[in-house]
Parts: sequence; C-alpha cells; structure tokens
Amino acid sequence: MNDIKVAVLGSEGVGKSALIVRFLTRRFIGEYASSSECIYRKRMSIDGRQLNLELYDPCSQPSEGKSTLNEQIHWADGFVVVYDISDRSSFLTAKAMVHLIRELHLGGSKRDTDSVIFLVGNKQDLCHMREVDREEGQKLASEGRCQFYELSAAEHYQEVVLMFSKIVRNASLG
Ligand code: GDP
Repeated sequence: MNDIKVAVLGSEGVGKSALIVRFLTRRFIGEYASSSECIYRKRMSIDGRQLNLELYDPCSQPSEGKSTLNEQIHWADGFVVVYDISDRSSFLTAKAMVHLIRELHLGGSKRDTDSVIFLVGNKQDLCHMREVDREEGQKLASEGRCQFYELSAAEHYQEVVLMFSKIVRNASLG
C-alpha cells in the first residue's frame, strides 16, 4: 500500500489544524490546543487504490526537538501552504514558504510543480476583514507554480475535502 505524506504549513493561527480536522472529521473546531507537532493518519481509497495518508501539522507551540521547516519539506510528497486572507503577514510567510519548497524540495527545477504545492487562502468567511486580495493569491500561485484555493474551514466543508483529496491524488502520482 502507498504511503502519502502531505505537510500543511503556514503561520500560527491561519487555520491549519481547523482544515485538517474538518477534512478528517467533518467538524469545525473553534479552538484546537496542541502542545507539539502532530501527524494525523487516514486510510483512503483514491481511484480504487488504497493509500495510507499522513498529514503533518506543525501545531502551535514551539517544542524541543521539533522538526525544522527544511526537514518537513524533505519529508513530504505534497504541500498545502495556508495563509489567512484577513492577515497580511501570514501571506508574506506563505510566500516565503512557497519559494523555499520550490528551492529545497523541487531543487528549483522548472518542471511543472502545480500538482504538489497547493496555496490556500483560508477564512474566506472573514472577507469583510480581508487584507489579501484574491488576485494577490492567484499571482503568488502562478509565480510559485501552485494550485490556488480560497476557502473557509468554517463554512466550506465540500471544498476542503475536494482540496485535500486532490493533493493526495496528485502526490500519489508524483
Ligand atoms: P493553526 O495554528 O494554523 O493550526 O490554526 P487553528 O486551526 O488553531 O485556527 C486558529 C483560529 O482560527 C481558531 O480560533 C479557529 O477557530 C479559527 N479559524 C480556522 N479556520 C477558520 C475559518 O475558516 N474561518 C474563521 N472565521 N475562523 C477560522
């Protein structure tokens, strides 16, 4: 059986845990407290193939021995880089991460990578507090050769499932 590893990266508070838990349990959690990094496991069937999915969430608290971003990038087959559309600084962090992933994981190669890096603008339900335009997200996605999604872990269950299913399928083909 194939093991597929997907890292969910981004600044603290952008909704990484909320997206993962929504995908795995259908539930939206208001607060998620965790003291160390977490790996969530799920068995999935994609196109009739059985897969073991590992989703990596760096969680919120710094901890001794926590893996570095570089290690996480080398570990993963696919990446979901998340920012919060109502928090400009989280977008700048996402931008730096997309470039780092391209450089480290993909060796800066020009080959098509939009299949394994997904850029996600989360908290779309907070669009009245928007600090990052949709077009800026799209521009970064095209620069970094990522697929782009704007969605809400709170309100868009179907889109969250679709996004994760797609990256798992793409990572399993790569
Ligand atoms: P993480 O540190 O990136 O894992 O972020 P969390 O998943 O812990 O989420 C941080 C906060 O943002 C929590 O209070 C969540 O309830 C909230 N949150 C996450 N996703 C959404 C969303 O789509 N919309 C809104 N309004 N809040 C969200």
